[in-house]
Amino acid sequence: MLQAKNVVIGAGPAGMACAYELAKAGRNPLILELENQPGGICRTLDFQGYLFDIGGHRFLTRSKEINELWSAVMGADMLKVKRLSRIYYHRKFFSYPLKFFDTFAKLGAMESVKAVASLLWCKYREIGDIKTFDGWVTRNFGRELYKVFFKNYTEKVWGMPCSNLSADWAMQRLRGLSVKVLLYNALSVIRKDRPKTLAEEFLYPRTGPGEFFRRLQAAIQEMGGTFAWGKKIVAIKTDGEKAVSLIVEDCRSGKREELEADTVFSTAPLPVLVNSLIPKPEEDVLEASKKLKFRSFLVVNVVLNVDNLFPDQWIYVQEPDVKMARIQNYKNWSPEMVPATGRTSLGLEYFCNENDDFWKSSDMDLMDMAMTELEKIGIASREHLINGFVVRIPHAYPVYSMHYTEDVKKLRGYLEHFSNVRTFGRGGLFHYDNSDHALLSGLYTARNYLGNGQHDVWSINENMSYMES
Ligand SMILES: Cc1cc2nc3c(=O)[nH]c(=O)nc-3n(C[C@H](O)[C@H](O)[C@H](O)COP(=O)(O)OP(=O)(O)OC[C@H]3O[C@@H](n4cnc5c(N)ncnc54)[C@H](O)[C@@H]3O)c2cc1C
Repeated sequence: MLQAKNVVIGAGPAGMACAYELAKAGRNPLILELENQPGGICRTLDFQGYLFDIGGHRFLTRSKEINELWSAVMGADMLKVKRLSRIYYHRKFFSYPLKFFDTFAKLGAMESVKAVASLLWCKYREIGDIKTFDGWVTRNFGRELYKVFFKNYTEKVWGMPCSNLSADWAMQRLRGLSVKVLLYNALSVIRKDRPKTLAEEFLYPRTGPGEFFRRLQAAIQEMGGTFAWGKKIVAIKTDGEKAVSLIVEDCRSGKREELEADTVFSTAPLPVLVNSLIPKPEEDVLEASKKLKFRSFLVVNVVLNVDNLFPDQWIYVQEPDVKMARIQNYKNWSPEMVPATGRTSLGLEYFCNENDDFWKSSDMDLMDMAMTELEKIGIASREHLINGFVVRIPHAYPVYSMHYTEDVKKLRGYLEHFSNVRTFGRGGLFHYDNSDHALLSGLYTARNYLGNGQHDVWSINENMSYMES
């Protein structure tokens, strides 16, 4: 049987940060990753010299420590990007984050009157259940603005009615935003003392976020860490009190090996981790794990023979007549993402469930559909298509259903029986975290283990998120 002391499952931001901290302390971690490169959902893909994120990844944080880590690793290779990301609705671009005057000017007089009346009505009559996404946004923006700017996109993302979605997601992503705040910001522009409350600028590595993780990988290896790529953990054997060994499958050959481990640091999705335990947990734990769902993400990446389509880094597609939810334009993130002049690379983003019909469509069909939609909404014509490819990401978004906190609590409690298993990261905590939170959860998990602090990784991003998506 193979042996390792400290095994890290996953080379995404959380696993990489944990491995970095362990390696710094001389603990020689072994990192097992089912993909062939580091970065997890933050990795950068190279397609014929064109660089693509898995959905654009802004580097933006309120943590001084993470900012310092990014600067130390990237130095001068980090760009400061002025954010432009508008909503595309009824073939018009609306500023996003929403801007008071822009929004009402583009909606037109009739729609604006309806929106204001609806806002007052919903606010003062306390319309909607504030515990749901639907109710929370309705109270803060009114029914009309909710329908125009939030409902369609949110239902595309989550694949369920907003009334079944917990308000936690709205609180995490929209906290601090309301029509009152938009008006205040708009008036502050006139007063020239506008507070910097919205994320208007972000950092971005010149050649995409993957470069940060490649450099971190080199540092970890230099300090004694080892990476094994294309390896999937399919089971964890326990003796009832601790994990004893892991069953590791080679993704290419399917061959399985057993690996004895002293400590398991896991960033695998929480319900997947719990389900991989042998012997199996009790029925109520398995039931809770089945109820925790993830939304998957599929992106059709294309290279077009056209110089410039729009100046935004990304666009939210609110058009109800297409499935597409967002469009990334990578040359607007960094010019180095596109190697040739006169070309544009786009990421056309869709949300779906793993193994549904959409997920299982052939790459050719998806490419064809995406180009049809792009043409239909008037962004680009299919005659400009040079080439493209499709990426599918399972477990991309933990779904905040109305019961998820209870189910997470149950799994968390169960895992606490195993003294040497630590779960962290976005999927591992079942928390809608950004990469900065994931990095912090990795650093803190390692420090807790090393005896350098007692951090509660489960509450890392409370009060730490930037305000909107
Ligand atoms: C479309 C999209 C856009 C985003 N945009 C931003 C943004 O702009 N800014 C930002 O900061 N964050 C953004 N995020 C969030 C960010 O991607 C995550 O917070 C971050 O990637 C989480 O890191 P993680 O290490 O916890 O998980 P992941 O990135 O999911 O990494 C987990 C790793 O573990 C591996 N793994 C899982 N199970 C196993 C197993 N059984 N065996 C072996 N390996 C396994 C996976 O292959 C993966 O590499 C975005 C997310 C999405 C989906």
